[in-house]
Amino acid sequence: MITAYHRPQTLDEALALLTQPNTVPLGGGTLLSQPRPDSIEAVDLQSLGLDSINKKGTDPSTRSGQVLEIGATATLQALLESEHCPEALKTAIKLEAPINIRNSATVAGTLVSGDGRSPFATALLSLDAKLTLDRGPRTEDGFSSSVLGLGEFLPLRPRGLITSIAIPLNTKFAFEFVSRTPVDKPIICAALTQWASGRTRLVLGGYGKSPMLAMDGTEADGLEIAASNAYHEATDEWASAEYRMDVAAVLAKRCLEGLK
Ligand SMILES: Cc1cc2nc3c(=O)[nH]c(=O)nc-3n(C[C@H](O)[C@H](O)[C@H](O)COP(=O)(O)OP(=O)(O)OC[C@H]3O[C@@H](n4cnc5c(N)ncnc54)[C@H](O)[C@@H]3O)c2cc1C
Repeated sequence: MITAYHRPQTLDEALALLTQPNTVPLGGGTLLSQPRPDSIEAVDLQSLGLDSINKKGTDPSTRSGQVLEIGATATLQALLESEHCPEALKTAIKLEAPINIRNSATVAGTLVSGDGRSPFATALLSLDAKLTLDRGPRTEDGFSSSVLGLGEFLPLRPRGLITSIAIPLNTKFAFEFVSRTPVDKPIICAALTQWASGRTRLVLGGYGKSPMLAMDGTEADGLEIAASNAYHEATDEWASAEYRMDVAAVLAKRCLEGLK
């Protein structure tokens, strides 16, 4: 149950509120507003101006090329409609949630709450997305913020306020999936990113607590084997590990053929 609602007007105010116990950021509220047993205070981020989507800067991984900087409170639908959103990422976003949810759900809220079945988290992990995370109020040196890869964030999901997410635009990217119906969340999905240097990063989704990094190599050799091996224990109520291993290899191959 939400016992108090705050709507700070500045990032400083929001960060100060979030140092209080049982106080959490409120993005689109699609998950947070559901009934829950514990009492929380919600800090609504909507007045902080964190919803812009801009092409700019430099990719911190390669120190070259451009990045798409996505404000934490940008909605999934706003990202989907952005002229800079890679086509294959649009496919993943459409699978994440139907349009009514996409119009409210934020990119940060989706990454924080998503599990391994999240096509959006799968895609962003493949793109080696970088999160800017503020952990407390402003210090004399500035905000106590840090930039960390989504791969570092997902296993622990540390407390803090995500203010933006950056994805590279100087890459080729592909996303493939298998699901019960064309609009269901996938039983298995694969996202493949390739940088100009040859770096090739394959992530699988559709299973478990977080998407799984299957390969991050200097080239695409061994991609299908890596895909298959990654899911050797991926059995759940939706599919057996044997099925997922076979399909992962096929989807990885399709991604490689479809990179653009
Ligand atoms: C009826 C219904 C039930 C759902 N049930 C589930 C479910 O059980 N599990 C699930 O994963 N998804 C569920 N969803 C999907 C949910 O809508 C998505 O996970 C959604 O994308 C969350 O985004 P949001 O912006 O609405 O997040 P919110 O609901 O606002 O927040 C979700 C989580 O993210 C945190 N958060 C939000 N923004 C930030 C930020 N900037 N920095 C740090 N933390 C932040 C919140 O504190 C909270 O823990 C459900 C949706 C609906 C409509």
